[in-house]
Amino acid sequence: MSFQTFIEPFKIKSVEPIYMSTAEQRKQYMKEAFYNPFLLHSRHVIIDLLTDSGTSAMSSEQWAGIMRGDESYAGAQSWERLETELKDLTGFSYVIPTHQGRAAERILYGYLGGKGKTFISNTHFDTTRANIEFSGAEAIDIPCKEAEDHESDYPFKGNMDIAALDELLGKHGSTNIGAVILTVTNNTGGGQPVSMENAKAVAEVCKKHKVLFIIDCCRIAENAYFIRNKEKGYEHKSYREIAQEMFALADGCAMSAKKDALVNMGGFLALQNEELATACTNLLIITEGFATYGGLSGRDMEAIAIGLREVFEDDYLHYRIMSTTYLGEQLKAKGVPVLYPIGGHAVYVDAGKLYNHIPAEQYPGQALVCELYQLGGIRTVEIGSVMFGKYDEDGKLVAAPMELVRLAIPRRVYTKSHLDYVIEVFDKIVQNKAATKGVKIVKEPKFLRHFTAHFEML
Ligand SMILES: *Cc1c(COP(=O)(O)O)cnc(C)c1O
Repeated sequence: MSFQTFIEPFKIKSVEPIYMSTAEQRKQYMKEAFYNPFLLHSRHVIIDLLTDSGTSAMSSEQWAGIMRGDESYAGAQSWERLETELKDLTGFSYVIPTHQGRAAERILYGYLGGKGKTFISNTHFDTTRANIEFSGAEAIDIPCKEAEDHESDYPFKGNMDIAALDELLGKHGSTNIGAVILTVTNNTGGGQPVSMENAKAVAEVCKKHKVLFIIDCCRIAENAYFIRNKEKGYEHKSYREIAQEMFALADGCAMSAKKDALVNMGGFLALQNEELATACTNLLIITEGFATYGGLSGRDMEAIAIGLREVFEDDYLHYRIMSTTYLGEQLKAKGVPVLYPIGGHAVYVDAGKLYNHIPAEQYPGQALVCELYQLGGIRTVEIGSVMFGKYDEDGKLVAAPMELVRLAIPRRVYTKSHLDYVIEVFDKIVQNKAATKGVKIVKEPKFLRHFTAHFEML
Protein backbone atom coordinates (compact mmCIF):
# COMPACT_ATOMS: atom_id res chain seq x y z
CA MET A 1 0.00 0.00 0.00
CA SER A 2 1.51 3.32 -0.91
CA PHE A 3 0.23 6.88 -0.78
CA GLN A 4 1.00 9.96 -2.85
CA THR A 5 1.91 12.09 0.14
CA PHE A 6 5.40 11.58 1.50
CA ILE A 7 5.90 12.45 5.15
CA GLU A 8 8.95 13.22 7.22
CA PRO A 9 9.99 9.88 8.78
CA PHE A 10 10.69 11.51 12.15
CA LYS A 11 8.97 13.41 14.94
CA ILE A 12 10.28 16.70 16.26
CA LYS A 13 11.85 16.56 19.72
CA SER A 14 13.60 19.89 19.95
CA VAL A 15 12.79 23.04 18.02
CA GLU A 16 14.63 26.18 17.02
CA PRO A 17 12.50 29.28 16.33
CA ILE A 18 12.34 30.92 12.93
CA TYR A 19 11.95 34.69 13.28
CA MET A 20 9.37 36.05 10.88
CA SER A 21 9.98 39.39 9.20
CA THR A 22 8.14 41.61 6.75
CA ALA A 23 9.16 42.33 3.17
CA GLU A 24 9.77 45.94 4.27
CA GLN A 25 12.23 44.81 6.98
CA ARG A 26 13.97 42.43 4.63
CA LYS A 27 14.52 45.18 2.09
CA GLN A 28 16.43 47.04 4.78
CA TYR A 29 18.35 43.92 5.94
CA MET A 30 19.36 43.13 2.35
CA LYS A 31 20.57 46.70 1.86
CA GLU A 32 22.59 46.51 5.09
CA ALA A 33 24.12 43.25 3.81
CA PHE A 34 25.10 44.97 0.52
CA TYR A 35 22.80 42.56 -1.37
CA ASN A 36 25.09 39.64 -0.52
CA PRO A 37 23.35 36.74 1.32
CA PHE A 38 26.64 35.70 2.96
CA LEU A 39 26.54 39.00 4.86
CA LEU A 40 23.03 38.51 6.29
CA HIS A 41 22.41 37.62 9.93
CA SER A 42 20.95 34.11 10.06
CA ARG A 43 18.19 35.32 12.43
CA HIS A 44 16.91 37.48 9.58
CA VAL A 45 16.47 34.43 7.35
CA ILE A 46 13.18 32.49 7.26
CA ILE A 47 14.19 29.48 5.13
CA ASP A 48 17.95 28.98 4.82
CA LEU A 49 18.84 27.15 1.61
CA LEU A 50 22.37 28.54 1.43
CA THR A 51 23.99 25.11 1.80
CA ASP A 52 23.43 21.50 2.85
CA SER A 53 26.89 21.44 4.41
CA GLY A 54 27.02 21.09 8.20
CA THR A 55 23.36 22.16 8.46
CA SER A 56 21.80 18.74 9.19
CA ALA A 57 19.60 18.08 12.21
CA MET A 58 21.01 15.30 14.39
CA SER A 59 18.84 12.48 15.69
CA SER A 60 18.13 11.69 19.35
CA GLU A 61 20.53 8.72 18.96
CA GLN A 62 23.28 11.03 17.74
CA TRP A 63 22.69 13.38 20.69
CA ALA A 64 22.88 10.39 23.00
CA GLY A 65 26.19 9.55 21.31
CA ILE A 66 27.38 13.09 22.02
CA MET A 67 26.95 12.38 25.75
CA ARG A 68 28.90 9.11 25.40
CA GLY A 69 31.85 10.81 23.72
CA ASP A 70 35.17 9.59 25.09
CA GLU A 71 37.55 12.55 25.04
CA SER A 72 40.75 10.61 25.74
CA TYR A 73 43.72 11.91 23.75
CA ALA A 74 44.72 8.46 22.49
CA GLY A 75 42.77 5.27 21.87
CA ALA A 76 39.36 6.74 22.79
CA GLN A 77 36.40 4.37 22.63
CA SER A 78 34.65 6.88 20.37
CA TRP A 79 37.53 6.60 17.90
CA GLU A 80 37.34 2.81 18.03
CA ARG A 81 33.63 2.98 17.31
CA LEU A 82 34.15 5.32 14.34
CA GLU A 83 37.11 3.36 12.97
CA THR A 84 35.16 0.08 13.12
CA GLU A 85 32.16 1.69 11.43
CA LEU A 86 34.20 3.27 8.64
CA LYS A 87 36.21 0.11 7.95
CA ASP A 88 32.99 -1.84 7.73
CA LEU A 89 31.30 0.70 5.45
CA THR A 90 34.21 1.46 3.11
CA GLY A 91 36.15 -1.81 3.29
CA PHE A 92 39.42 0.18 3.44
CA SER A 93 42.07 -0.82 5.99
CA TYR A 94 43.24 2.61 7.14
CA VAL A 95 41.04 5.41 8.44
CA ILE A 96 42.26 8.96 9.11
CA PRO A 97 39.86 11.36 10.89
CA THR A 98 39.91 15.07 9.97
CA HIS A 99 37.94 18.14 11.07
CA GLN A 100 36.24 18.48 7.68
CA GLY A 101 36.48 17.44 4.03
CA ARG A 102 39.02 19.99 2.84
CA ALA A 103 41.47 18.96 5.60
CA ALA A 104 41.35 15.40 4.24
CA GLU A 105 41.86 16.81 0.74
CA ARG A 106 44.79 18.99 1.75
CA ILE A 107 46.54 16.00 3.31
CA LEU A 108 45.93 13.50 0.49
CA TYR A 109 46.13 15.75 -2.57
CA GLY A 110 48.90 17.84 -1.06
CA TYR A 111 50.93 14.64 -0.67
CA LEU A 112 50.05 13.19 -4.10
CA GLY A 113 50.19 16.55 -5.89
CA GLY A 114 52.92 19.07 -6.62
CA LYS A 115 54.26 20.59 -9.82
CA GLY A 116 53.87 18.44 -12.92
CA LYS A 117 51.09 16.25 -11.46
CA THR A 118 47.61 16.00 -12.91
CA PHE A 119 44.32 15.07 -11.24
CA ILE A 120 41.25 14.05 -13.22
CA SER A 121 37.64 14.09 -12.01
CA ASN A 122 34.06 14.05 -13.28
CA THR A 123 34.06 17.52 -11.70
CA HIS A 124 36.39 18.67 -8.92
CA PHE A 125 34.51 20.37 -6.08
CA ASP A 126 35.94 23.87 -5.48
CA THR A 127 37.91 22.98 -2.31
CA THR A 128 39.26 19.86 -4.08
CA ARG A 129 40.46 21.94 -7.01
CA ALA A 130 41.87 24.61 -4.68
CA ASN A 131 43.93 22.06 -2.71
CA ILE A 132 45.22 20.43 -5.90
CA GLU A 133 46.15 23.73 -7.53
CA PHE A 134 47.67 25.04 -4.29
CA SER A 135 50.09 22.07 -4.39
CA GLY A 136 51.18 23.16 -7.88
CA ALA A 137 49.31 20.37 -9.69
CA GLU A 138 46.56 20.76 -12.30
CA ALA A 139 42.95 19.57 -12.06
CA ILE A 140 41.03 18.50 -15.18
CA ASP A 141 37.24 18.00 -15.25
CA ILE A 142 35.77 15.47 -17.66
CA PRO A 143 31.99 15.24 -17.05
CA CYS A 144 30.07 12.98 -19.43
CA LYS A 145 28.59 14.46 -22.63
CA GLU A 146 25.01 13.86 -21.44
CA ALA A 147 25.59 16.46 -18.69
CA GLU A 148 25.62 19.25 -21.29
CA ASP A 149 21.90 18.88 -21.96
CA HIS A 150 20.14 20.45 -18.98
CA GLU A 151 16.67 19.35 -20.01
CA SER A 152 16.92 15.67 -20.94
CA ASP A 153 15.96 13.16 -18.27
CA TYR A 154 19.16 11.09 -18.57
CA PRO A 155 19.43 9.75 -15.00
CA PHE A 156 23.22 9.74 -14.45
CA LYS A 157 24.53 13.11 -15.58
CA GLY A 158 27.17 12.95 -12.82
CA ASN A 159 29.10 10.30 -14.78
CA MET A 160 32.70 10.68 -15.93
CA ASP A 161 33.59 10.64 -19.64
CA ILE A 162 35.33 7.25 -19.86
CA ALA A 163 36.83 7.68 -23.34
CA ALA A 164 38.32 11.03 -22.29
CA LEU A 165 39.71 9.42 -19.11
CA ASP A 166 41.41 6.63 -21.05
CA GLU A 167 42.90 9.13 -23.48
CA LEU A 168 44.14 11.51 -20.75
CA LEU A 169 45.73 8.72 -18.71
CA GLY A 170 47.46 7.42 -21.82
CA LYS A 171 48.71 10.89 -22.67
CA HIS A 172 49.98 11.83 -19.19
CA GLY A 173 51.46 8.47 -18.16
CA SER A 174 50.81 6.92 -14.76
CA THR A 175 53.71 8.59 -12.92
CA ASN A 176 52.36 12.06 -13.70
CA ILE A 177 48.86 11.39 -12.44
CA GLY A 178 48.12 12.31 -8.81
CA ALA A 179 44.78 10.49 -8.73
CA VAL A 180 41.49 10.06 -10.50
CA ILE A 181 38.69 11.42 -8.30
CA LEU A 182 35.08 10.38 -8.78
CA THR A 183 32.76 12.81 -6.98
CA VAL A 184 29.47 11.14 -5.98
CA THR A 185 27.06 12.76 -6.33
CA ASN A 186 28.64 15.37 -8.58
CA ASN A 187 28.08 18.46 -6.42
CA THR A 188 29.43 21.11 -8.79
CA GLY A 189 27.69 19.35 -11.68
CA GLY A 190 24.22 19.97 -10.19
CA GLY A 191 24.18 17.20 -7.54
CA GLN A 192 23.75 14.66 -10.33
CA PRO A 193 24.37 10.97 -9.54
CA VAL A 194 27.03 8.61 -10.91
CA SER A 195 25.97 5.14 -12.05
CA MET A 196 27.62 1.95 -10.79
CA GLU A 197 28.37 1.06 -14.39
CA ASN A 198 30.32 4.30 -14.77
CA ALA A 199 32.19 3.79 -11.46
CA LYS A 200 33.15 0.29 -12.63
CA ALA A 201 34.43 1.66 -15.93
CA VAL A 202 36.48 4.32 -14.13
CA ALA A 203 38.00 1.61 -11.91
CA GLU A 204 38.87 -0.51 -14.92
CA VAL A 205 40.59 2.30 -16.79
CA CYS A 206 42.51 3.28 -13.62
CA LYS A 207 43.69 -0.31 -13.18
CA LYS A 208 44.76 -0.51 -16.82
CA HIS A 209 46.89 2.62 -16.44
CA LYS A 210 47.95 1.80 -12.84
CA VAL A 211 46.71 5.05 -11.30
CA LEU A 212 45.11 5.72 -7.93
CA PHE A 213 41.29 5.85 -7.87
CA ILE A 214 39.74 7.94 -5.07
CA ILE A 215 36.04 8.47 -4.41
CA ASP A 216 34.88 11.83 -3.05
CA CYS A 217 32.05 10.18 -1.11
CA CYS A 218 30.37 13.23 0.52
CA ARG A 219 26.95 12.16 -0.83
CA ILE A 220 27.40 8.45 -1.51
CA ALA A 221 24.15 7.54 0.27
CA GLU A 222 22.12 9.95 -1.88
CA ASN A 223 23.93 8.53 -4.91
CA ALA A 224 22.99 4.99 -3.84
CA TYR A 225 19.33 6.02 -3.85
CA PHE A 226 19.51 6.92 -7.54
CA ILE A 227 21.35 3.69 -8.38
CA ARG A 228 18.77 1.51 -6.68
CA ASN A 229 15.85 3.37 -8.23
CA LYS A 230 17.24 4.06 -11.70
CA GLU A 231 19.94 1.51 -12.57
CA LYS A 232 19.07 -2.01 -13.63
CA GLY A 233 20.10 -4.83 -11.33
CA TYR A 234 20.13 -2.83 -8.09
CA GLU A 235 16.41 -2.87 -7.24
CA HIS A 236 16.87 -5.45 -4.50
CA LYS A 237 20.14 -4.28 -2.95
CA SER A 238 20.22 -2.17 0.19
CA TYR A 239 21.57 1.38 -0.10
CA ARG A 240 24.47 0.47 2.16
CA GLU A 241 25.36 -2.55 0.00
CA ILE A 242 25.34 -0.34 -3.07
CA ALA A 243 27.73 2.12 -1.41
CA GLN A 244 29.94 -0.78 -0.32
CA GLU A 245 30.03 -2.13 -3.87
CA MET A 246 31.19 1.27 -5.08
CA PHE A 247 33.86 1.65 -2.39
CA ALA A 248 35.21 -1.79 -3.32
CA LEU A 249 36.08 -0.44 -6.78
CA ALA A 250 38.41 2.28 -5.45
CA ASP A 251 41.75 2.64 -3.64
CA GLY A 252 40.42 5.09 -1.10
CA CYS A 253 37.95 7.85 -0.33
CA ALA A 254 37.72 11.34 1.13
CA MET A 255 34.59 12.56 2.87
CA SER A 256 33.15 15.71 4.30
CA ALA A 257 30.96 14.30 7.09
CA LYS A 258 29.03 17.60 6.98
CA LYS A 259 26.99 16.10 4.15
CA ASP A 260 25.87 12.46 4.28
CA ALA A 261 27.19 11.69 7.77
CA LEU A 262 24.41 13.94 9.14
CA VAL A 263 26.66 15.93 11.45
CA ASN A 264 27.62 19.58 11.73
CA MET A 265 31.39 19.09 11.55
CA GLY A 266 33.79 16.33 10.57
CA GLY A 267 35.49 14.39 7.80
CA PHE A 268 37.86 11.53 7.07
CA LEU A 269 40.16 9.76 4.64
CA ALA A 270 40.04 5.98 4.21
CA LEU A 271 42.80 4.24 2.26
CA GLN A 272 43.87 0.76 1.26
CA ASN A 273 47.58 1.32 0.71
CA GLU A 274 49.65 1.16 3.91
CA GLU A 275 52.49 3.35 2.71
CA LEU A 276 50.13 6.09 1.54
CA ALA A 277 48.13 5.87 4.77
CA THR A 278 51.30 6.21 6.86
CA ALA A 279 52.41 9.28 4.91
CA CYS A 280 48.96 10.86 5.34
CA THR A 281 48.88 10.04 9.06
CA ASN A 282 52.22 11.80 9.52
CA LEU A 283 50.81 14.91 7.84
CA LEU A 284 47.65 14.60 9.94
CA ILE A 285 49.65 14.73 13.17
CA ILE A 286 51.44 17.93 12.10
CA THR A 287 48.31 20.01 11.50
CA GLU A 288 45.09 18.21 12.51
CA GLY A 289 45.83 16.12 15.60
CA PHE A 290 46.87 12.68 16.77
CA ALA A 291 45.88 9.68 14.63
CA THR A 292 42.96 8.65 16.86
CA TYR A 293 41.06 11.93 16.72
CA GLY A 294 42.39 14.06 13.83
CA GLY A 295 40.62 17.37 14.23
CA LEU A 296 37.63 15.92 16.06
CA SER A 297 36.28 15.61 19.60
CA GLY A 298 35.32 12.15 20.82
CA ARG A 299 31.66 13.22 20.77
CA ASP A 300 31.93 14.29 17.11
CA MET A 301 33.26 10.85 16.19
CA GLU A 302 30.30 9.18 17.95
CA ALA A 303 27.84 11.34 16.02
CA ILE A 304 29.52 10.54 12.67
CA ALA A 305 29.50 6.79 13.36
CA ILE A 306 25.76 6.91 14.13
CA GLY A 307 24.90 9.32 11.30
CA LEU A 308 26.55 7.07 8.73
CA ARG A 309 24.19 4.25 9.77
CA GLU A 310 21.07 6.43 9.74
CA VAL A 311 21.77 7.98 6.35
CA PHE A 312 21.39 4.62 4.58
CA GLU A 313 17.96 3.87 6.07
CA ASP A 314 15.29 3.34 3.39
CA ASP A 315 12.75 5.73 4.90
CA TYR A 316 15.27 8.48 5.44
CA LEU A 317 16.68 8.35 1.90
CA HIS A 318 13.25 8.15 0.34
CA TYR A 319 12.11 11.24 2.23
CA ARG A 320 15.39 13.01 1.48
CA ILE A 321 15.35 12.57 -2.30
CA MET A 322 11.56 12.96 -2.51
CA SER A 323 11.77 16.40 -0.85
CA THR A 324 14.37 17.66 -3.30
CA THR A 325 12.47 16.15 -6.24
CA TYR A 326 9.16 17.58 -4.98
CA LEU A 327 10.55 21.11 -4.76
CA GLY A 328 12.21 20.83 -8.19
CA GLU A 329 9.21 19.32 -9.99
CA GLN A 330 6.80 21.87 -8.51
CA LEU A 331 9.00 24.75 -9.63
CA LYS A 332 9.33 23.20 -13.09
CA ALA A 333 5.55 22.87 -13.32
CA LYS A 334 5.27 26.63 -12.67
CA GLY A 335 7.53 27.31 -15.63
CA VAL A 336 10.62 28.07 -13.53
CA PRO A 337 13.63 26.80 -15.53
CA VAL A 338 15.53 24.20 -13.44
CA LEU A 339 18.45 21.86 -14.16
CA TYR A 340 16.93 18.51 -14.95
CA PRO A 341 16.56 15.85 -13.70
CA ILE A 342 16.53 17.10 -10.11
CA GLY A 343 19.66 16.00 -8.21
CA GLY A 344 20.10 14.78 -4.66
CA HIS A 345 20.77 17.72 -2.38
CA ALA A 346 19.66 20.81 -4.24
CA VAL A 347 17.51 22.36 -6.93
CA TYR A 348 19.36 24.57 -9.41
CA VAL A 349 17.33 27.36 -10.98
CA ASP A 350 18.55 28.74 -14.33
CA ALA A 351 18.30 32.47 -13.60
CA GLY A 352 19.84 33.33 -16.97
CA LYS A 353 16.80 31.78 -18.62
CA LEU A 354 14.26 33.03 -16.07
CA TYR A 355 15.53 36.61 -16.42
CA ASN A 356 16.53 36.56 -20.06
CA HIS A 357 16.19 40.37 -20.09
CA ILE A 358 19.09 40.74 -17.63
CA PRO A 359 22.55 40.42 -19.25
CA ALA A 360 25.36 38.46 -17.54
CA GLU A 361 27.11 41.78 -16.69
CA GLN A 362 24.11 42.56 -14.48
CA TYR A 363 24.19 39.17 -12.77
CA PRO A 364 20.71 37.63 -13.18
CA GLY A 365 21.56 34.95 -10.56
CA GLN A 366 22.32 37.55 -7.92
CA ALA A 367 19.11 39.36 -8.88
CA LEU A 368 17.13 36.17 -8.16
CA VAL A 369 18.98 35.64 -4.88
CA CYS A 370 17.95 39.16 -3.81
CA GLU A 371 14.34 38.68 -4.94
CA LEU A 372 14.00 35.37 -3.07
CA TYR A 373 15.25 36.98 0.10
CA GLN A 374 13.28 40.20 -0.14
CA LEU A 375 10.02 38.54 -1.14
CA GLY A 376 10.17 35.46 1.07
CA GLY A 377 13.14 35.60 3.43
CA ILE A 378 14.68 32.64 1.55
CA ARG A 379 18.47 32.56 1.49
CA THR A 380 20.14 30.93 -1.53
CA VAL A 381 23.43 31.27 -3.38
CA GLU A 382 24.36 32.38 -6.88
CA ILE A 383 26.43 29.89 -8.86
CA GLY A 384 27.14 31.87 -11.99
CA SER A 385 29.14 34.89 -13.03
CA VAL A 386 29.41 36.28 -9.50
CA MET A 387 31.05 33.04 -8.34
CA PHE A 388 32.99 32.04 -11.46
CA GLY A 389 33.14 35.18 -13.64
CA LYS A 390 36.56 36.59 -14.52
CA TYR A 391 37.71 39.83 -16.17
CA ASP A 392 39.67 39.91 -19.41
CA GLU A 393 42.60 42.32 -20.01
CA ASP A 394 40.23 45.16 -20.86
CA GLY A 395 38.31 44.66 -17.62
CA LYS A 396 35.32 43.15 -19.44
CA LEU A 397 33.44 40.34 -17.72
CA VAL A 398 34.05 36.81 -19.04
CA ALA A 399 30.73 35.27 -17.98
CA ALA A 400 30.30 31.82 -16.43
CA PRO A 401 28.72 29.21 -18.74
CA MET A 402 25.45 29.36 -16.76
CA GLU A 403 23.74 31.77 -14.37
CA LEU A 404 22.40 29.43 -11.70
CA VAL A 405 20.91 29.84 -8.24
CA ARG A 406 21.20 26.86 -5.90
CA LEU A 407 18.47 25.95 -3.45
CA ALA A 408 20.32 23.49 -1.20
CA ILE A 409 18.16 21.51 1.21
CA PRO A 410 19.55 20.92 4.72
CA ARG A 411 19.00 17.32 5.89
CA ARG A 412 16.05 16.62 8.26
CA VAL A 413 15.63 20.36 8.96
CA TYR A 414 12.65 21.56 6.95
CA THR A 415 9.24 19.96 6.54
CA LYS A 416 7.09 19.76 3.45
CA SER A 417 5.18 22.88 4.49
CA HIS A 418 8.44 24.83 4.49
CA LEU A 419 8.96 23.64 0.92
CA ASP A 420 5.39 24.60 0.00
CA TYR A 421 6.17 28.09 1.25
CA VAL A 422 9.26 28.25 -1.00
CA ILE A 423 7.15 27.08 -3.94
CA GLU A 424 4.57 29.80 -3.22
CA VAL A 425 7.27 32.49 -3.07
CA PHE A 426 8.24 31.46 -6.60
CA ASP A 427 4.72 32.44 -7.76
CA LYS A 428 5.65 36.00 -6.81
CA ILE A 429 9.05 35.63 -8.45
CA VAL A 430 7.38 34.68 -11.73
CA GLN A 431 4.79 37.51 -11.42
CA ASN A 432 7.56 40.07 -10.79
CA LYS A 433 9.79 38.69 -13.52
CA ALA A 434 9.58 41.51 -16.05
CA ALA A 435 10.10 44.22 -13.44
CA THR A 436 13.13 42.53 -11.84
CA LYS A 437 16.38 44.37 -12.41
CA GLY A 438 20.00 43.29 -12.26
CA VAL A 439 22.75 44.32 -9.86
CA LYS A 440 26.23 45.76 -10.11
CA ILE A 441 29.32 44.97 -8.06
CA VAL A 442 30.60 47.96 -6.15
CA LYS A 443 33.34 46.28 -4.10
CA GLU A 444 35.07 42.91 -4.51
CA PRO A 445 38.13 41.03 -3.22
CA LYS A 446 40.64 39.36 -5.57
CA PHE A 447 39.74 35.75 -4.72
CA LEU A 448 36.43 33.96 -3.97
CA ARG A 449 34.60 37.25 -4.44
CA HIS A 450 31.10 35.84 -3.94
CA PHE A 451 31.65 35.53 -0.17
CA THR A 452 32.36 39.19 0.54
CA ALA A 453 31.50 41.29 -2.54
CA HIS A 454 29.19 44.30 -2.14
CA PHE A 455 26.40 44.96 -4.67
CA GLU A 456 23.93 47.69 -5.58
CA MET A 457 20.56 47.22 -7.25
CA LEU A 458 20.28 48.78 -10.70
C1 LIG B 1 31.67 19.96 0.86
C2 LIG B 1 32.49 19.20 -0.08
C3 LIG B 1 33.87 19.06 0.08
C4 LIG B 1 34.66 19.81 1.15
O1 LIG B 1 34.25 19.54 2.43
P1 LIG B 1 34.26 20.59 3.63
O2 LIG B 1 33.78 19.79 4.79
O3 LIG B 1 33.36 21.72 3.27
O4 LIG B 1 35.68 21.05 3.83
C5 LIG B 1 34.55 18.26 -0.83
N1 LIG B 1 33.91 17.65 -1.85
C6 LIG B 1 32.59 17.78 -2.05
C7 LIG B 1 31.93 17.07 -3.18
C8 LIG B 1 31.83 18.56 -1.18
O5 LIG B 1 30.51 18.69 -1.39
